[in-house]
Amino acid sequence: MMEPVLTIVVPCYNEEDVLPETVDQLQGLLRELIHEGLVSRQSKILFVDDGSKDHTWELIYKAGLRSDHVRGLKLSRNVGHQNALLAGLFTAKEQSDCVVSIDADLQDDIRVIRDFVIRFHSGYEIVYGVRKGRNTDTLFKRSTAQGFYKVMKKLGVDLVYNHADFRLMSKRAVEELERFREVNLFLRGIVPLLGFRSDMVFYDRLERHAGDTKYPLKKMLAFALDGITSFSISPIRFVLITGFVSFFMSLVFGGYFLALKFFGDTETGWTSLITSIWLIGGLQLIAIGLIGEYVGKIYKETKQRPKYIVDIDSFTLPAPRHHLLSDTLEDSGYSLDLRKVSDTNN
Ligand code: UDP
Ligand code: MG
Repeated sequence: MMEPVLTIVVPCYNEEDVLPETVDQLQGLLRELIHEGLVSRQSKILFVDDGSKDHTWELIYKAGLRSDHVRGLKLSRNVGHQNALLAGLFTAKEQSDCVVSIDADLQDDIRVIRDFVIRFHSGYEIVYGVRKGRNTDTLFKRSTAQGFYKVMKKLGVDLVYNHADFRLMSKRAVEELERFREVNLFLRGIVPLLGFRSDMVFYDRLERHAGDTKYPLKKMLAFALDGITSFSISPIRFVLITGFVSFFMSLVFGGYFLALKFFGDTETGWTSLITSIWLIGGLQLIAIGLIGEYVGKIYKETKQRPKYIVDIDSFTLPAPRHHLLSDTLEDSGYSLDLRKVSDTNN
Protein backbone atom coordinates (compact mmCIF):
# COMPACT_ATOMS: atom_id res chain seq x y z
CA MET A 1 0.00 0.00 0.00
CA MET A 2 1.17 3.51 -0.85
CA GLU A 3 1.73 5.65 2.24
CA PRO A 4 -1.41 7.68 2.93
CA VAL A 5 -1.34 11.46 2.77
CA LEU A 6 -2.11 12.81 6.25
CA THR A 7 -3.21 16.33 7.09
CA ILE A 8 -3.21 17.49 10.68
CA VAL A 9 -5.84 20.20 11.14
CA VAL A 10 -5.28 22.73 13.91
CA PRO A 11 -7.88 25.43 14.67
CA CYS A 12 -6.25 28.51 16.20
CA TYR A 13 -7.84 31.48 17.88
CA ASN A 14 -5.48 34.02 19.43
CA GLU A 15 -2.81 31.39 19.94
CA GLU A 16 0.35 33.43 19.33
CA ASP A 17 1.79 32.36 22.70
CA VAL A 18 1.69 28.67 21.99
CA LEU A 19 1.85 28.54 18.20
CA PRO A 20 5.64 28.53 17.64
CA GLU A 21 5.96 25.54 19.95
CA THR A 22 2.99 23.80 18.31
CA VAL A 23 4.44 24.32 14.84
CA ASP A 24 7.80 22.88 15.94
CA GLN A 25 6.38 19.87 17.71
CA LEU A 26 3.87 18.91 15.02
CA GLN A 27 6.46 19.38 12.30
CA GLY A 28 8.91 17.20 14.20
CA LEU A 29 6.29 14.52 14.55
CA LEU A 30 5.28 14.69 10.91
CA ARG A 31 8.91 14.31 9.82
CA GLU A 32 9.23 11.22 12.01
CA LEU A 33 6.05 9.71 10.58
CA ILE A 34 7.29 10.34 7.05
CA HIS A 35 10.68 8.90 7.92
CA GLU A 36 9.09 5.79 9.40
CA GLY A 37 7.17 5.31 6.18
CA LEU A 38 3.81 5.66 7.94
CA VAL A 39 2.60 8.65 5.94
CA SER A 40 3.36 10.17 2.56
CA ARG A 41 5.83 12.98 1.92
CA GLN A 42 2.87 15.06 0.76
CA SER A 43 1.50 15.12 4.30
CA LYS A 44 0.75 18.51 5.80
CA ILE A 45 -0.21 20.45 8.87
CA LEU A 46 -3.09 22.84 8.19
CA PHE A 47 -3.43 25.72 10.64
CA VAL A 48 -6.83 27.40 10.53
CA ASP A 49 -6.81 30.94 11.82
CA ASP A 50 -10.28 31.51 13.22
CA GLY A 51 -10.29 35.30 12.90
CA SER A 52 -7.64 35.86 15.55
CA LYS A 53 -7.00 39.37 16.79
CA ASP A 54 -3.33 38.80 17.60
CA HIS A 55 -0.43 37.72 15.38
CA THR A 56 -1.60 34.15 14.91
CA TRP A 57 -2.03 34.44 11.13
CA GLU A 58 1.36 36.07 10.64
CA LEU A 59 2.99 33.21 12.56
CA ILE A 60 1.13 30.61 10.51
CA TYR A 61 1.93 32.36 7.28
CA LYS A 62 5.62 32.61 8.01
CA ALA A 63 5.79 28.99 9.12
CA GLY A 64 4.23 28.15 5.75
CA LEU A 65 6.95 30.06 3.92
CA ARG A 66 9.65 28.16 5.79
CA SER A 67 8.21 24.68 5.38
CA ASP A 68 6.52 22.68 2.64
CA HIS A 69 4.59 20.81 5.28
CA VAL A 70 2.80 23.80 6.72
CA ARG A 71 -0.32 25.22 5.15
CA GLY A 72 -2.47 28.04 6.49
CA LEU A 73 -6.13 28.85 6.11
CA LYS A 74 -7.37 32.24 7.27
CA LEU A 75 -11.06 32.59 7.95
CA SER A 76 -12.62 35.98 7.32
CA ARG A 77 -13.79 36.28 10.94
CA ASN A 78 -14.17 34.29 14.15
CA VAL A 79 -16.68 31.47 13.69
CA GLY A 80 -15.88 29.37 16.75
CA HIS A 81 -13.92 26.19 17.31
CA GLN A 82 -16.39 23.78 15.67
CA ASN A 83 -16.80 25.72 12.45
CA ALA A 84 -13.09 26.50 12.21
CA LEU A 85 -12.43 22.79 12.55
CA LEU A 86 -14.93 22.01 9.80
CA ALA A 87 -13.31 24.59 7.54
CA GLY A 88 -10.01 22.81 8.09
CA LEU A 89 -11.38 19.31 7.59
CA PHE A 90 -13.25 20.13 4.40
CA THR A 91 -10.27 21.98 2.97
CA ALA A 92 -7.77 19.31 3.99
CA LYS A 93 -9.70 16.32 2.68
CA GLU A 94 -9.21 17.37 -0.93
CA GLN A 95 -5.54 16.48 -0.83
CA SER A 96 -5.48 13.88 1.94
CA ASP A 97 -6.29 10.24 2.55
CA CYS A 98 -6.84 10.88 6.23
CA VAL A 99 -7.09 13.91 8.52
CA VAL A 100 -6.36 14.34 12.21
CA SER A 101 -7.87 17.23 14.18
CA ILE A 102 -6.10 18.56 17.25
CA ASP A 103 -6.20 21.74 19.37
CA ALA A 104 -3.40 24.25 19.11
CA ASP A 105 -2.64 24.27 22.83
CA LEU A 106 -0.78 20.89 22.93
CA GLN A 107 -3.13 19.57 25.61
CA ASP A 108 -3.60 16.40 23.63
CA ASP A 109 -0.57 14.16 23.41
CA ILE A 110 0.63 14.53 19.82
CA ARG A 111 2.48 11.20 19.95
CA VAL A 112 -0.95 9.56 19.89
CA ILE A 113 -1.23 10.64 16.24
CA ARG A 114 1.19 7.83 15.39
CA ASP A 115 -1.24 5.31 16.92
CA PHE A 116 -4.08 6.93 14.96
CA VAL A 117 -2.18 6.40 11.72
CA ILE A 118 -1.29 2.79 12.57
CA ARG A 119 -4.99 2.12 13.21
CA PHE A 120 -5.81 3.76 9.89
CA HIS A 121 -3.35 1.38 8.20
CA SER A 122 -5.23 -1.56 9.65
CA GLY A 123 -8.49 -0.37 8.15
CA TYR A 124 -10.13 1.88 10.74
CA GLU A 125 -11.76 4.96 9.24
CA ILE A 126 -12.44 6.90 12.43
CA VAL A 127 -10.11 6.79 15.44
CA TYR A 128 -11.12 8.65 18.61
CA GLY A 129 -8.58 10.01 21.05
CA VAL A 130 -9.95 9.39 24.53
CA ARG A 131 -8.61 11.02 27.69
CA LYS A 132 -7.74 8.60 30.46
CA GLY A 133 -8.33 11.11 33.21
CA ARG A 134 -8.79 14.80 33.70
CA ASN A 135 -6.21 15.32 36.41
CA THR A 136 -4.75 18.38 34.74
CA ASP A 137 -8.06 20.18 34.32
CA THR A 138 -9.37 22.25 37.18
CA LEU A 139 -11.92 20.58 39.43
CA PHE A 140 -14.53 22.96 38.08
CA LYS A 141 -13.85 22.16 34.43
CA ARG A 142 -13.69 18.47 35.21
CA SER A 143 -17.03 18.30 36.99
CA THR A 144 -18.88 20.52 34.51
CA ALA A 145 -17.56 18.47 31.60
CA GLN A 146 -18.39 15.19 33.30
CA GLY A 147 -21.88 16.48 34.09
CA PHE A 148 -22.30 17.40 30.45
CA TYR A 149 -21.57 13.85 29.25
CA LYS A 150 -24.00 12.46 31.80
CA VAL A 151 -26.80 14.82 30.80
CA MET A 152 -26.23 14.10 27.11
CA LYS A 153 -26.36 10.38 27.77
CA LYS A 154 -29.65 10.78 29.66
CA LEU A 155 -31.05 12.73 26.75
CA GLY A 156 -30.15 9.91 24.41
CA VAL A 157 -27.21 11.48 22.57
CA ASP A 158 -24.48 8.99 21.83
CA LEU A 159 -21.15 10.61 22.68
CA VAL A 160 -17.76 8.99 23.04
CA TYR A 161 -17.01 9.51 26.73
CA ASN A 162 -14.07 11.84 27.43
CA HIS A 163 -13.41 12.38 23.76
CA ALA A 164 -12.96 15.95 22.58
CA ASP A 165 -12.17 16.77 18.99
CA PHE A 166 -8.88 14.89 18.83
CA ARG A 167 -9.48 12.20 16.20
CA LEU A 168 -8.53 10.74 12.86
CA MET A 169 -11.00 10.51 10.02
CA SER A 170 -10.58 8.96 6.60
CA LYS A 171 -11.21 11.05 3.51
CA ARG A 172 -14.42 9.12 2.95
CA ALA A 173 -15.65 9.84 6.47
CA VAL A 174 -15.05 13.58 6.05
CA GLU A 175 -16.87 13.50 2.71
CA GLU A 176 -19.86 11.90 4.38
CA LEU A 177 -19.65 14.45 7.20
CA GLU A 178 -19.92 17.18 4.60
CA ARG A 179 -23.32 15.84 3.59
CA PHE A 180 -24.75 16.77 6.99
CA ARG A 181 -26.13 20.09 5.92
CA GLU A 182 -27.23 21.39 9.31
CA VAL A 183 -25.78 24.67 10.45
CA ASN A 184 -25.62 23.78 14.14
CA LEU A 185 -23.20 20.97 13.57
CA PHE A 186 -22.21 19.40 16.86
CA LEU A 187 -19.24 17.33 15.73
CA ARG A 188 -18.90 15.05 18.73
CA GLY A 189 -22.47 13.92 18.31
CA ILE A 190 -22.41 13.68 14.51
CA VAL A 191 -19.19 11.72 13.97
CA PRO A 192 -20.47 8.56 15.74
CA LEU A 193 -23.54 8.77 13.46
CA LEU A 194 -21.29 8.31 10.43
CA GLY A 195 -20.74 4.68 11.25
CA PHE A 196 -17.68 3.13 9.56
CA ARG A 197 -15.11 0.99 11.37
CA SER A 198 -13.90 2.95 14.36
CA ASP A 199 -11.53 2.55 17.25
CA MET A 200 -10.27 4.46 20.30
CA VAL A 201 -6.81 5.36 21.53
CA PHE A 202 -6.38 6.31 25.20
CA TYR A 203 -3.97 9.00 26.38
CA ASP A 204 -3.24 11.36 29.26
CA ARG A 205 -4.39 14.90 28.78
CA LEU A 206 -1.69 17.44 29.51
CA GLU A 207 -1.79 20.98 30.68
CA ARG A 208 -2.32 23.83 28.21
CA HIS A 209 1.16 24.61 26.96
CA ALA A 210 0.76 28.40 26.94
CA GLY A 211 -1.93 31.04 26.68
CA ASP A 212 -5.39 30.91 28.23
CA THR A 213 -8.39 28.77 27.54
CA LYS A 214 -10.60 30.17 24.80
CA TYR A 215 -13.53 28.41 26.42
CA PRO A 216 -14.67 30.41 29.43
CA LEU A 217 -17.78 29.26 31.31
CA LYS A 218 -20.09 31.33 29.14
CA LYS A 219 -18.91 29.63 25.94
CA MET A 220 -18.96 26.23 27.61
CA LEU A 221 -22.59 26.68 28.62
CA ALA A 222 -23.52 27.84 25.14
CA PHE A 223 -21.71 24.82 23.71
CA ALA A 224 -23.55 22.42 26.01
CA LEU A 225 -26.93 23.99 25.28
CA ASP A 226 -26.22 23.82 21.55
CA GLY A 227 -25.24 20.20 21.88
CA ILE A 228 -28.43 19.33 23.70
CA THR A 229 -30.88 21.26 21.56
CA SER A 230 -29.41 20.15 18.24
CA PHE A 231 -29.73 16.53 19.14
CA SER A 232 -32.77 15.94 21.23
CA ILE A 233 -36.29 17.15 21.80
CA SER A 234 -36.26 15.92 25.41
CA PRO A 235 -36.20 19.46 26.89
CA ILE A 236 -39.34 20.40 25.04
CA ARG A 237 -41.00 17.18 26.15
CA PHE A 238 -39.92 17.99 29.70
CA VAL A 239 -41.77 21.32 29.45
CA LEU A 240 -44.87 19.51 28.28
CA ILE A 241 -44.73 17.09 31.18
CA THR A 242 -44.12 19.91 33.66
CA GLY A 243 -47.14 21.62 32.20
CA PHE A 244 -49.29 18.56 32.82
CA VAL A 245 -47.95 18.16 36.34
CA SER A 246 -48.63 21.77 37.27
CA PHE A 247 -52.11 21.54 35.76
CA PHE A 248 -52.83 18.46 37.88
CA MET A 249 -51.41 20.19 40.95
CA SER A 250 -53.60 23.21 40.44
CA LEU A 251 -56.66 20.92 40.38
CA VAL A 252 -55.59 19.36 43.66
CA PHE A 253 -54.90 22.73 45.27
CA GLY A 254 -58.15 24.10 43.87
CA GLY A 255 -60.03 21.34 45.71
CA TYR A 256 -58.06 22.05 48.84
CA PHE A 257 -58.81 25.79 48.78
CA LEU A 258 -62.48 25.10 48.13
CA ALA A 259 -62.55 22.85 51.15
CA LEU A 260 -60.91 25.62 53.20
CA LYS A 261 -63.59 28.05 52.04
CA PHE A 262 -66.38 25.75 53.16
CA PHE A 263 -64.81 25.54 56.60
CA GLY A 264 -64.83 29.34 56.76
CA ASP A 265 -61.06 29.84 56.72
CA THR A 266 -60.66 32.05 53.62
CA GLU A 267 -58.11 34.70 54.65
CA THR A 268 -55.14 32.45 54.09
CA GLY A 269 -55.62 32.62 50.31
CA TRP A 270 -53.18 35.39 49.57
CA THR A 271 -49.98 33.41 50.05
CA SER A 272 -51.00 30.55 47.83
CA LEU A 273 -52.28 32.96 45.18
CA ILE A 274 -49.11 34.98 44.95
CA THR A 275 -47.01 31.83 44.96
CA SER A 276 -48.93 30.26 42.14
CA ILE A 277 -48.78 33.44 40.09
CA TRP A 278 -45.02 33.36 40.33
CA LEU A 279 -44.88 29.64 39.75
CA ILE A 280 -47.04 29.67 36.65
CA GLY A 281 -45.34 32.79 35.36
CA GLY A 282 -41.98 31.12 35.74
CA LEU A 283 -43.09 27.96 34.06
CA GLN A 284 -44.48 29.88 31.15
CA LEU A 285 -41.28 31.80 30.72
CA ILE A 286 -39.23 28.63 30.73
CA ALA A 287 -41.54 27.06 28.20
CA ILE A 288 -41.45 30.06 25.91
CA GLY A 289 -37.68 30.25 26.24
CA LEU A 290 -37.22 26.66 25.28
CA ILE A 291 -39.56 26.91 22.33
CA GLY A 292 -37.65 29.99 21.29
CA GLU A 293 -34.48 27.96 21.38
CA TYR A 294 -35.87 25.50 18.87
CA VAL A 295 -37.51 28.14 16.71
CA GLY A 296 -34.15 29.90 16.61
CA LYS A 297 -32.54 26.72 15.37
CA ILE A 298 -35.15 26.27 12.64
CA TYR A 299 -34.66 29.89 11.65
CA LYS A 300 -30.93 29.39 11.27
CA GLU A 301 -31.29 26.13 9.39
CA THR A 302 -33.70 27.57 6.86
CA LYS A 303 -31.23 30.29 6.00
CA GLN A 304 -28.59 27.76 4.93
CA ARG A 305 -25.84 30.21 5.65
CA PRO A 306 -22.28 29.09 4.98
CA LYS A 307 -20.57 27.84 8.11
CA TYR A 308 -17.38 29.75 7.41
CA ILE A 309 -15.76 31.97 4.81
CA VAL A 310 -12.17 31.54 3.74
CA ASP A 311 -10.14 34.70 3.43
CA ILE A 312 -6.73 33.40 2.39
CA ASP A 313 -5.58 29.86 1.64
CA SER A 314 -1.79 29.98 1.61
CA PHE A 315 -1.85 26.83 -0.48
CA THR A 316 -3.62 28.25 -3.49
CA LEU A 317 -1.78 31.58 -3.56
CA PRO A 318 0.22 31.87 -6.79
CA ALA A 319 3.94 32.05 -6.24
CA PRO A 320 4.69 35.73 -7.05
CA ARG A 321 1.99 36.87 -4.67
CA HIS A 322 3.46 34.63 -2.10
CA HIS A 323 6.62 36.60 -2.33
CA LEU A 324 4.92 39.99 -2.30
CA LEU A 325 2.82 39.04 0.65
CA SER A 326 5.81 38.22 2.74
CA ASP A 327 7.31 41.61 1.86
CA THR A 328 4.12 43.37 2.78
CA LEU A 329 4.22 41.47 6.02
CA GLU A 330 7.61 42.78 6.95
CA ASP A 331 6.99 46.35 5.77
CA SER A 332 3.65 47.02 7.30
CA GLY A 333 4.57 45.64 10.67
CA TYR A 334 2.24 42.66 10.47
CA SER A 335 -0.80 44.21 8.89
CA LEU A 336 -1.79 42.08 5.95
CA ASP A 337 -3.46 44.14 3.29
CA LEU A 338 -4.42 42.19 0.21
CA ARG A 339 -5.47 45.23 -1.77
CA LYS A 340 -2.01 46.62 -1.40
CA VAL A 341 -0.66 43.39 -2.76
CA SER A 342 -2.81 43.36 -5.87
CA ASP A 343 -2.02 47.04 -6.50
CA THR A 344 1.68 46.36 -6.55
CA ASN A 345 0.95 43.40 -8.79
CA ASN A 346 -0.61 45.49 -11.55
N1 UDP B 1 -10.57 27.94 19.07
C1 UDP B 1 -11.01 28.42 17.83
N2 UDP B 1 -12.00 29.37 17.79
C2 UDP B 1 -12.60 29.87 18.92
C3 UDP B 1 -12.17 29.34 20.19
C4 UDP B 1 -11.17 28.38 20.21
O1 UDP B 1 -10.51 28.00 16.79
O2 UDP B 1 -13.47 30.73 18.82
C5 UDP B 1 -9.51 26.92 19.11
C6 UDP B 1 -8.37 27.22 20.05
O3 UDP B 1 -7.37 27.99 19.43
C7 UDP B 1 -7.87 25.83 20.40
C8 UDP B 1 -9.12 24.98 20.36
O4 UDP B 1 -10.07 25.73 19.60
O5 UDP B 1 -6.96 25.33 19.45
C9 UDP B 1 -9.66 24.66 21.73
O6 UDP B 1 -9.75 25.83 22.51
P1 UDP B 1 -9.26 25.87 24.02
O7 UDP B 1 -7.99 25.08 24.20
O8 UDP B 1 -9.22 27.29 24.44
O9 UDP B 1 -10.46 25.12 24.75
P2 UDP B 1 -10.36 24.14 26.03
O10 UDP B 1 -9.31 23.11 25.73
O11 UDP B 1 -10.01 25.02 27.17
O12 UDP B 1 -11.74 23.56 26.11
MG1 MG C 1 -7.47 23.41 25.34
